[in-house]
Amino acid sequence: MKYCRECLMPDTKPYISFDEKGVCNACRAHHLKQQHLEGIDWKTREKEFDQMVLEAKAKRAPFYDVLVPVSGGKDSLTQVHRLLKCDLRILAVNVDYGIKTEVGWHNLMLVADMGANLSIYRPTQPLHRRLIYIGLQDFGDPDLLSHTLLHAYPLRVALQFKIPLVILGENSAFEYGGDAKLAQKNTITREWFSQYAANKGHDAKFVSERYEIPFEQLRLYDFPDEIEQSETRAVFMSYFFYWDSETHLEIALKHGFKTLDEAREGTYRNYVGIDEKINRIHQYIKVLKFGYGRATDHACEDIRAGRLAREEAKKLVRQYDLQDLSDDYVDDFVKYIGISRDEFFAVLEKYRNTRIWAKDAKGKWYIPYHLED
Ligand SMILES: [Zn+2]
Repeated sequence: MKYCRECLMPDTKPYISFDEKGVCNACRAHHLKQQHLEGIDWKTREKEFDQMVLEAKAKRAPFYDVLVPVSGGKDSLTQVHRLLKCDLRILAVNVDYGIKTEVGWHNLMLVADMGANLSIYRPTQPLHRRLIYIGLQDFGDPDLLSHTLLHAYPLRVALQFKIPLVILGENSAFEYGGDAKLAQKNTITREWFSQYAANKGHDAKFVSERYEIPFEQLRLYDFPDEIEQSETRAVFMSYFFYWDSETHLEIALKHGFKTLDEAREGTYRNYVGIDEKINRIHQYIKVLKFGYGRATDHACEDIRAGRLAREEAKKLVRQYDLQDLSDDYVDDFVKYIGISRDEFFAVLEKYRNTRIWAKDAKGKWYIPYHLED
């Protein structure tokens, strides 16, 4: 594998490209973003936000002024924290799409303790488990449709309750380098949803047709097009406030947010991906498919932010990225979707890319020239 000269992203990452200096497009986007961020007048954006909030309040909606989708992570607690300062009636909506952890429940409950109303939606399990199984078996991604549901469902709720404002988190097109036109928008659209929530067009309509599941059963997994003609406005918070993980963590900790005592498996960060368990499976398959995982993602972010030197980052990636899945995740997952461990591991092997992985003399899988420049 070939690695970016600045971060540690390998050339196996989908859509990656390198310039003549061997620098990846994500690093280049980051440089541009820094220049661009310096050009943003955040004070003006904050005023725009205040104005938008006043307009939402003035609509005197019957139940709530604003809806905010929450996972219970540091970003969602920050969203709630900022909205509470505006004295709004808040409905926080959590889509409980997988296997929540104890610390995940603790952090989610803080949302209501802070002063928002909290609604937890759990989709019908026989259908949802089938969708997770389809995602795993045929696409190597158990979160395939969960991801569309957690974007689409809160928008439906906002329409039903006639809530004038929905505050989403970050616009990934802007934050992580993506489509330039979508990056400049502050509202969610069908086009954004297809590109960033649904994985390359593998959305509810596609699954409905291919697996002969009536679309009526999957409607909640799909973007509500009605929102574009409605009184509800759905915007990204990252357009109005500088989006920064460390700041969000600090705010969340003040409200009682719990992190893990130490990093677990797959990455060195002890405060992300701690609320739910299926995502670990998703991240592990990424390692089989592309030879890099969550520790690389986090190390690259930290390198770009100037928090980590490239050689230090390599040490962390070596320590965490290729760690095996522990029984704690495997057992809960196979029990949840109702397959055997053997079947589960057979599916995983289907996704191991043997152009990246090789077997050593003892028959153990490894990545030749891992992290070697
Ligand atoms: Zn890079």
